Amino acid sequence: MRIDTLSHAILFSGEEGSGALPQALSLAKYILCAQKTEDGEPCGTCPSCRKAQNAIHPDLHFVVPVNRAKSVSSSRMPVTDDFIDLWRQAFHENPDITEQQWYEKLEIENKQGTIGTAEAENIIRKLQFKSFEGGARVMIVWLPERMNISASNKLLKILEEPSPGTYFLLVSHRPDQLLPTIRSRCMQVQVPPKDRKPVSAESYANLQNLLDLCFAGKPSGILDWAEDMASRGREVQKAFMTDSLQILRQYYMIFLGVPQLAFLDKPEETAAARYANRMGDVFFQKIYLRLNTSLEQLERNVNARPLFCSLAFDFFLSLQK
Ligand SMILES: [Zn+2]
Repeated sequence: MRIDTLSHAILFSGEEGSGALPQALSLAKYILCAQKTEDGEPCGTCPSCRKAQNAIHPDLHFVVPVNRAKSVSSSRMPVTDDFIDLWRQAFHENPDITEQQWYEKLEIENKQGTIGTAEAENIIRKLQFKSFEGGARVMIVWLPERMNISASNKLLKILEEPSPGTYFLLVSHRPDQLLPTIRSRCMQVQVPPKDRKPVSAESYANLQNLLDLCFAGKPSGILDWAEDMASRGREVQKAFMTDSLQILRQYYMIFLGVPQLAFLDKPEETAAARYANRMGDVFFQKIYLRLNTSLEQLERNVNARPLFCSLAFDFFLSLQK
């Protein structure tokens, strides 16, 4: 991974139990590691890696939802730092801790945790100082959907332009509940659910055929491809759109230089890189949008022939140098 291309605000979304929080920690380790390996992994053994693994690295900060708890009597609203030892212990016991398990640890029973204004001010204050160890620093915000509006607004600016070497890793189970302005400031990484439906081999082959034709610069073959797709069943056509969105998301992570966020095994990653490295930003933006609108159109039963024809030509044109 090329650390210099890494976005300074990354939103990991995944269902509870998907491993989104451990994924964010492993990226944090990579960012903080003093001896990163050639193929983009943290070394796992340097002091930074060891401290990060135990969540005690002084430049690894956590923000988690909290609330007034029995253990803390205070006139002000509590912040994560009031419970940091409890959090480290809970996180150590279960790196993929659920929200409910955390509230049980906090002993806030039926109350929900929040990330409030006091927390936002605390984050801004911490980031005014230099990092402790002189290198990068990472702020993991677990469940940003628990942030109230005024805290969100306070953090917008710093999310947009964090000081150099500062990385925000947001880990959300419900990204739809975040302010759109927060979402739009983050690079979005979807952590697949553990039992996700794999991409169908048919969709994968269809997408590869189209990409091969585009890279070969053969518009005539593209027409045949579109005709063939238009003759398939509606479910196969819809699966092509949703599967292609998933595959292109993986390609995009590889293109950005963060292959570990594609969540592929090594042979899959090597195969994907052959395509991903020939694509560009404009292609991804344009084609994501096209696949999404094509899916909506298929659901409204529009005529598939012109739809696949224009989709295929958009692929073709977006991939010509
Ligand atoms: Zn290391």
